[in-house]
Amino acid sequence: MQLTKGVFLISGGTYGKLGNAYVVKHNGGFILIDSSSPGALDTLLENLKYWDIDEQAITHVLLTHGHDDHAGCAAHFQKQGAKVYVGAADRTMMEEGNFGIESPQTNHVMPSCFPDQLFTEDTTLIIENLTIDVYLMPGHTDGSVIFYLQLENERILFTGDMFFVDGETGNIASTGWKGDLGYSGEKLGRSFAKLWSLSLTPTIIAGGHGIPRIRNNVQESIKIAYKYYLLNNR
Ligand SMILES: [Zn+2]
Repeated sequence: MQLTKGVFLISGGTYGKLGNAYVVKHNGGFILIDSSSPGALDTLLENLKYWDIDEQAITHVLLTHGHDDHAGCAAHFQKQGAKVYVGAADRTMMEEGNFGIESPQTNHVMPSCFPDQLFTEDTTLIIENLTIDVYLMPGHTDGSVIFYLQLENERILFTGDMFFVDGETGNIASTGWKGDLGYSGEKLGRSFAKLWSLSLTPTIIAGGHGIPRIRNNVQESIKIAYKYYLLNNR
């Protein structure tokens, strides 16, 4: 489905798959933001075809974090020529293709992927005509980041599993799974404080799960998520 001009949701719960994946058009091709779970590859390819997007036109795969339900198809698109970006601290789980041998979550496996670029600090990516602010937001995983994309008429915040919006009217927000060995409620709290102080004004919040919330006082979702954290994650 198309969220706004040139921005598509191509995998996730909407399609009966785990992990939202988004495609954004730029002047020289497309970027993929998160790549869903390995079992969702057919869905990704089907939706790309539906929107007349050649998979080889995907130039960058930007990952909010290294979990298999977000990074699962990154290796596939890398083989087609895309550059893969992820937070530095999540590099190992991507290279190993699981959460590490010491992790009980050994069923979380994905094709191993060696990232091309690592985020080590807040930065701004310029990809053709797109400007994407990257903010480190450790907590859900140590390498978690969020992306803030400013288009002509929309400002889209891609939040991964730091928090996502859901519910019948998009008025529920929750934070992601806490099972990662690297999960830190304390770091997540500091990340929420940082996010709050950034005073971003998105018109769309596109999470790693749940439903994208579009306009209609969308900033409210940041407040709801922060409150959810304060009640549930310390
Ligand atoms: Zn996750």
